[in-house]
Amino acid sequence: MLDKEFGEISISIRSNMKRITARWRNDRLVVNMPPFVPLNSIASFINENRDTLRALRNKALEKARCSVSYELEQRIPCFKGEVHITSIEYKPNFTGYKRDKDGNMFIFISSRDDISTSTKQNAISSALKALMKRTAPHVLIPYAWEIAKEIGVSPKEIVIGRGAKKLGHCTSKGVIQLSFMLMFMPEELVRYIICHELAHLTVMNHSPQFHALCNTYCNGKEKALEQMLKGFRYPLLER
Ligand SMILES: [Zn+2]
Repeated sequence: MLDKEFGEISISIRSNMKRITARWRNDRLVVNMPPFVPLNSIASFINENRDTLRALRNKALEKARCSVSYELEQRIPCFKGEVHITSIEYKPNFTGYKRDKDGNMFIFISSRDDISTSTKQNAISSALKALMKRTAPHVLIPYAWEIAKEIGVSPKEIVIGRGAKKLGHCTSKGVIQLSFMLMFMPEELVRYIICHELAHLTVMNHSPQFHALCNTYCNGKEKALEQMLKGFRYPLLER
């Protein structure tokens, strides 16, 4: 079936369905309908729901534009480096990762495996996370100490926290915890998050005094960096 706005439409008959439904799949409208429904009722269904279907299509297209996907020989920028997705000799279903002694990072996928499958894409996303978890202590902690020294504050300890949701935390004992997820960010955001936590060594809450201090640590760019962090997207399929 062909619609003048939506193009070719796929129709599938579902014996378990009681009414017509529709959804977008790869920019193709798929209509599911119960058996014994006259075909012209699909056209009326589409006309009655045209505005909704159009909105759903735009949403799906927008999502596809923003969503992450990986390909062979891609280089994913991260804090102080990049991750190179490359292939190795055939090992069925293999996805591995490595950080060499010079700090070069790799995700390996087996040659002959299809990188575009969702299983492979998910495996790469997980491998990226594992790689950053492993790398964070070597890279983030020394960097955070540098910033602390530059600002002139002395945290009790700087550690990599376990979580992915909380990017940073300052305990009442003065221990700074940073998430390995910072490894996916550009340096200015990493620095901003560290400055935020270091400011908590002096002011525990988020009062105007806190922000004034944090803003000084950030060379007057706290607001701009906060906005930049809000717009940041991880190169991951899910957090
Ligand atoms: Zn805070």
